Amino acid sequence: MDFRDTPDEAAFRADVRAFIDASLPTALREADTLEAGVQGEAMRDWRSALANKGWIAPHWPKEYGGGGFSVTEQFVFNEEMAESRAPDVGGMGVQMIGPILIRFGTDEQKQEHLSRITGGEAWWCQGYSEPGSGSDLASLQTRAVRDGDEYVLNGQKIWTSGAHRANWMFLLARTDPDAPKHRGISMFLLDMKSPGVTVQPLITMANDHIFNQVFFEDVRVPARNLVGEENRGWYIGAALLDFERSNIRAAISMRHTVSDLVNYAREAAAAPGAPALTGATRNELAERAVEAEIARLIAYRVISIQKRGAVPNYEASMNKLYRSEASQRAAHTGLKLMGLYGGLYKGSKYAPLNARFAHSYLATVSSTIAAGTSEVNRNVIATRGLELPRS
Ligand SMILES: Cc1cc2nc3c(=O)[nH]c(=O)nc-3n(C[C@H](O)[C@H](O)[C@H](O)COP(=O)(O)OP(=O)(O)OC[C@H]3O[C@@H](n4cnc5c(N)ncnc54)[C@H](O)[C@@H]3O)c2cc1C
Repeated sequence: MDFRDTPDEAAFRADVRAFIDASLPTALREADTLEAGVQGEAMRDWRSALANKGWIAPHWPKEYGGGGFSVTEQFVFNEEMAESRAPDVGGMGVQMIGPILIRFGTDEQKQEHLSRITGGEAWWCQGYSEPGSGSDLASLQTRAVRDGDEYVLNGQKIWTSGAHRANWMFLLARTDPDAPKHRGISMFLLDMKSPGVTVQPLITMANDHIFNQVFFEDVRVPARNLVGEENRGWYIGAALLDFERSNIRAAISMRHTVSDLVNYAREAAAAPGAPALTGATRNELAERAVEAEIARLIAYRVISIQKRGAVPNYEASMNKLYRSEASQRAAHTGLKLMGLYGGLYKGSKYAPLNARFAHSYLATVSSTIAAGTSEVNRNVIATRGLELPRS
C-alpha cells in the first residue's frame, strides 16, 4: 500500500495547512492553555474563519453551504486539523443530522435547518438511547402518536450528550407498536423549547456535565418535522454509517497523547535527584506509541475502503474498539508514570500536565460504552468479519 499523497492531495494538504497556520488562534494551539474564557473567544474566531472559508461542513455539497470535499479531501482535512490540534466546531449538526437531511429531508426541512447549522445558530443533540434501549436500540419505547398535523410524543431518552446546550434534537420514536420492532420507528426533529420537554443533567464520575436525561410529556411535534417516511426511521438512522468513519482525528490525538507523555517522562527524569526511567516504563511507553501507530493504520484502512466507494462494515467496529480500548491504556500509563501526583485533579498547582491524565483516567472509562460498546463491536467483528456463527 502506498501511503503517499497524490500530487493533487499534496497540493490540497498544503492549502489546508496554510489556512490553519494563518487562522487557528494561538489560544487553541496548546491543549493546556484552554482556559474557559480564552477558549470561548478563540473558538468564535476559529468558527468564523472556517465559516468564511466555507469549511464548517467540509463534506457537505457546496449547494448546502458545505465545502464539497471528496472522501479523500475530507480525510486529509481531518488529518491536518488533528495534527494542529485544531478543535472541531461542527458537532452533531454537521456530522449527523445535516447529512441525513441532505439525503432524506424535505425541501422545507433543508431550507429551515441547513444554513442554521453552517451558520452556528443551531446546536443539535441525538435522542436515540433510552433507559432500556442502548445496544438493542430497536426496542425503544418512546411513543409518537399522530394527531392531525402533529405527533404527540411521550417517553424518555437518556445519555443525551449536549442536550443542555442544544436547541434541537433529532430523535427516534415508535410510531407503530404492532409492527416488527425495526419497522415501527420514525425519526423526528424536535425544538428543545417545545412545552413538555424536560432536561435533567447527569454528571459523570469525571465530574463532567456531558450528558442528560430528557423527558417528553405530551410534547407536540409538527408533522412537517418527520424525517423521511413514517416507520422508516430505523433505516434513515442507519444511513449515518455512510459518512467518513476513519476517525483519523482520534488516532492522531492518541499519538499526541503519547508524545506528551514521553516529553513529561524525559523532563521528570532530568530533574535533579529524580530516578532514571526504568526499562519497564520505557517498554510501556513504546507499547503505547505502537498502539497509536496501529490506530492510524486502521484509520487508513477504513478510508481506503471508502475511497473505493465501498462502505466499511466490521472494519469500522475494529477501529472503534481498538482506539477506545487504547485510549484507556494510554490514560492508565499516564497515571502510572506520574505516580501520586497523577491523581491530583484540576485546580491543584502540583497536578502534572494540567491534570489531563487524572481526568482522562476517569473520562475514558465511558469510551468503550459510548457509540457502541466493546462487546457489541466484538460481536460485529466475530459475525461479519470472521463469519463466526451467531450464538
Ligand atoms: C459518554 C457517552 C455519551 C453518549 N451520548 C449519547 C447520545 O448523545 N445520544 C444517545 O442516544 N446515546 C448516547 N449514549 C448512549 C450509548 O449509545 C449507550 O450507552 C450504548 O449504546 C450502550 O447502551 P446501554 O448503556 O443501554 O447499555 P446496554 O446496551 O444495556 O449494555 C449493558 C452491557 O451489556 C452488554 N451487551 C449488550 N448487548 C449485548 C450483546 N448483544 N452481546 C454482548 N454484550 C452485550 C454491553 O456491552 C454492556 O456491557 C452515550 C453514552 C456515553 C457513555
